Amino acid sequence: MKPTLIIGGGIIGLFSAYFLQKEGIEVTVLDRTDLRDNCSTGNAGMIVPSHIIPLAAPGMVTKGISWMFSSKSPFYIHPRLDFKLLQWCLLFFKSANEKQVQRAIPFLKNLSLLSKALYLDFKAEHPEAALAMQEKGLMMAYQTEGMEKEEVEFAYLARKHGLEAEILSQADLRTIEPNLELKARGAVLFPGDAHLDPGALYGFLKKYLEEKGVKFLSNTQVQGFEKTVSKVSAILTDQGKIEAEKILLCGGSWSAELAKMLGFSMPMMGGKGYSFLQKNQPEIRQATILTEQKVAVSPYGETIRFGGTLEIAGTNQSVDMRRVQGIFESINRYYPDFESKFPNENEIWKGLRPCSPDGLPYIGFAPNYSNVLVGSGHSMMGISLAPATGKLLAELHQAKDTSMEIRGFEVGRFN
Ligand SMILES: Cc1cc2nc3c(=O)[nH]c(=O)nc-3n(C[C@H](O)[C@H](O)[C@H](O)COP(=O)(O)OP(=O)(O)OC[C@H]3O[C@@H](n4cnc5c(N)ncnc54)[C@H](O)[C@@H]3O)c2cc1C
Repeated sequence: MKPTLIIGGGIIGLFSAYFLQKEGIEVTVLDRTDLRDNCSTGNAGMIVPSHIIPLAAPGMVTKGISWMFSSKSPFYIHPRLDFKLLQWCLLFFKSANEKQVQRAIPFLKNLSLLSKALYLDFKAEHPEAALAMQEKGLMMAYQTEGMEKEEVEFAYLARKHGLEAEILSQADLRTIEPNLELKARGAVLFPGDAHLDPGALYGFLKKYLEEKGVKFLSNTQVQGFEKTVSKVSAILTDQGKIEAEKILLCGGSWSAELAKMLGFSMPMMGGKGYSFLQKNQPEIRQATILTEQKVAVSPYGETIRFGGTLEIAGTNQSVDMRRVQGIFESINRYYPDFESKFPNENEIWKGLRPCSPDGLPYIGFAPNYSNVLVGSGHSMMGISLAPATGKLLAELHQAKDTSMEIRGFEVGRFN
């Protein structure tokens, strides 16, 4: 029997391999890189059932337009003549309406809750994995009245959908962060969220899969497919042809190119972001989003990661230091006493979030193919949603009933 080939060794590809090997399937993971660094290794590592609103939401359009004029802003689309970008933007604006958001909420919520439950199973099953996972929730801290209104309204919406949300006063913040001042009017805490070290998760999962017999082909770029009417029989790589029983397409921000090779459209843009580590001094304890700046703060005891900005960048991976500066300046704006140190260029991690135009991932069979599955487009929530995506893809691969309704993630929805 030929193996199942997974294109893309990011976190979505790895969790898909994890659930497939549990089913006894022979799996090979291919990646064009050396599998040391991708979007899945240096992100903020937050597991966020609270994030039930997709990126394409009405408020993002007005904010996006005002942010576009600042080089340090949290969201940015560099205006350029690019047909794919134009097409993506049109679909984004079309999706950013209340009706679409209301339709998306139950799908995102159920996918997130399934994923969180699978993370807890994973942690229990692998106590040897040092994931630095902390189930202390995620705090959304705000400094302005406008943002307070937005976050508190969102807390009520989250509660309406059955999620826990606590509105915190400045006195509560002093209890949560006893070591230094968090300069904020207040915050909303989502106790059901968690965070972990994404690099540790990635490293553990890859090693575990190798030990379980999953084959990894690094430095192998997929360049085409050999196909019949409704099936792919082999993939064509720069290292030669590889025959396959089934294919999983988990190529992150590059997935649109792979879809194009297979003859269907799956609009995607890389949403570039950066992060860097700092010595955690004085110690920040709580995983937090600094909401006005959209900066993620992920503490791991003695070290801490700050990450943020989303620049719709296609697949351009250059580092824009002005945007890194924007993240850096946010630190002391919220934590005036934190001993921040601007990172050297080689200490700056960058990643391309695979952003679909409607903010929902693509999960399911590729249109018109009976042996090609897709798991991609998780934008800012790939770590959070990876276990559920992997489990759903393994279920579809095995022609089993899926653990949840997946209609909202239809792969061919833009064809
Ligand atoms: C600053 C920042 C902070 C973030 N914080 C969080 C967070 O707190 N929580 C969260 O859930 N998410 C977060 N994310 C998002 C998360 O990192 C992504 O959603 C996730 O990593 C995407 O995983 P992936 O497997 O889809 O893609 P990737 O990790 O990009 O993997 C795709 C792989 O496919 C390979 N590939 C592509 N094309 C080919 C080809 N033709 N041939 C062979 N290989 C190919 C690529 O080389 C790559 O290794 C953050 C992202 C950023 C940038």
